[in-house]
Amino acid sequence: MDLMSGVAITKQIYDLLQTIKEGRDQKLVSDAAGNLSEKITALQMLNTELSGFYHSECQKTMKLSQENSKIKMFISNIEHYALHKTPAGSITYIPKDTPDNEVPLYYACAHCYQKAIVSMLQPDKRDSGFHMLYCPECKNKFKQSLIPLKSPNMPNPFRY
Ligand SMILES: [Zn+2]
Repeated sequence: MDLMSGVAITKQIYDLLQTIKEGRDQKLVSDAAGNLSEKITALQMLNTELSGFYHSECQKTMKLSQENSKIKMFISNIEHYALHKTPAGSITYIPKDTPDNEVPLYYACAHCYQKAIVSMLQPDKRDSGFHMLYCPECKNKFKQSLIPLKSPNMPNPFRY
């Protein structure tokens, strides 16, 4: 069923009502009345179908507008970040207003950044002699920096 069949049914209902109104022949009138209730049922079904369709279209529009405002917010934010390579060579983003020679306030996940999400990397367990960061959003891990061999928390394999 579509909108065009709705128009056709409405036209049929109008014709049936005309027949009933004219009321020339009792047989014609009672046939028309039976036919009329059938057409009205069809129209009600179509109405239900259309309102369901309308509802789902409204939801789609709402979701799109939410996506849109998320992207707009990201774009207005984008100029505040710059690509940054950690001392261990991982590619991340950092807030721009941090001078290069200072440790950035935080690293943002480059993977999530491509999807318009600024996800702050968090410290993770050390791995293979590196300080590690992980992304709470996409769970990717990033090498931050090599752990110095003299670090008191890490046994120095060359000491003995
Ligand atoms: Zn991520």
